Amino acid sequence: MVQKYQLETLSVRAGQARSQFNEHSEALYLTSSYVFDNAAQAAARFSGEEEGNVYSRFTNPTVAAFQERLAALEGAEACVATASGMSAILSLVMALCSAGDHIVASTGLFGATQQLLGNIMTRFGVQTSFVSQTRVEAWAEAIRPETKLFFLETPSNPLTEIADISALVAVAHERGILVVVDNCFCTPILQRPLDLGADLVMHSATKFLDGQGRVLGGAVAGEKKLTDEVLRFLRTAGPTLSAFNAWVLLKGMETLKIRLEAQSSKALELARWLESHPKVTRTYYPGLESHPQFELARRQQKSGGAIVAFEVKGARSEAWKVIDNCRLLSITANLGDTKTTLTHPATTTHGRITPEQRAAAGITESLLRVAVGLEAVVDLQNDLDVGLSQI
Ligand SMILES: *Cc1c(COP(=O)(O)O)cnc(C)c1O
Repeated sequence: MVQKYQLETLSVRAGQARSQFNEHSEALYLTSSYVFDNAAQAAARFSGEEEGNVYSRFTNPTVAAFQERLAALEGAEACVATASGMSAILSLVMALCSAGDHIVASTGLFGATQQLLGNIMTRFGVQTSFVSQTRVEAWAEAIRPETKLFFLETPSNPLTEIADISALVAVAHERGILVVVDNCFCTPILQRPLDLGADLVMHSATKFLDGQGRVLGGAVAGEKKLTDEVLRFLRTAGPTLSAFNAWVLLKGMETLKIRLEAQSSKALELARWLESHPKVTRTYYPGLESHPQFELARRQQKSGGAIVAFEVKGARSEAWKVIDNCRLLSITANLGDTKTTLTHPATTTHGRITPEQRAAAGITESLLRVAVGLEAVVDLQNDLDVGLSQI
């Protein structure tokens, strides 16, 4: 199926295994365990000698359908679903790294990812060096003999900096280092990191894969040899995706391509308007010619995506004025929803990191992030303009 069909077809069709009832919509299996024919089969299932469902901490048909669909979209051999995006990152680090190992990651990572790698994992002896997303030589210089992973997120949140996946893969693979890409912002519709040589892709399915702001979920996809390690951790530690959430995600993925394309084109229109607004000092969007990596983005992604960041004239109070005058945009940190959201990264998503980490990541007090949904662009502009015009 993977070879034969286009992405939008796979989004709708991949991963479905019908039950004896021949349901048309994917079945939701709400069961924690499974019944065996006899004691010998139970033993064979537990030991892994016989494939099949055992217990929903690590085997569930609805979760399996989600895993298969995402694997098909990413062009991955296998996929393991997790309870959230953060548990996908935790699981892959716990599965692939040991005390003494080292990770190189970008300074512009999602706030909780920075916290996990930079603060929590260090207590377990896994060190992370944070380097500029855009300087390939900085990644090469940060490599140590014990470096195990490159962890990158492109475009970055919220500044939409682009990492050159192929170039970083070349540097990493020369030294036997694995490359993990957080593909949350682009989804496989706009960018397929495995095609560019990355070893693993991870997702916060909470964002565009669901696409309607309903459930949390995550996933790690790539070579089966690697995802099996993640599965081994998940089986024991239990940060498992629920069957219900997997079912919601399957439904969300059916409209992934049309949403991403519509939201991206609205985001480009909004970014152009923001860029020309007298109260906006800088706009960050990979689809704008003014983006420092516009050419790289054009090569690596199908479009600029749905996230736009911008700085207003002034500082925190001016940024908050724009937020507080909005009546349509939702003041919330989620993204990838059909409803447009607006957030002040310095005091929300990036509020728990130190001011030094924030400065290194380029998150200023005047920065705002818009995750564009499916509303009319003119309505979004009018809403933002109320606060902007008061600056
Ligand atoms: C939201 C997000 C995460 C974390 O995902 P959760 O599902 O919220 O745990 C990781 N990376 C990026 C880029 C995100 O936007």
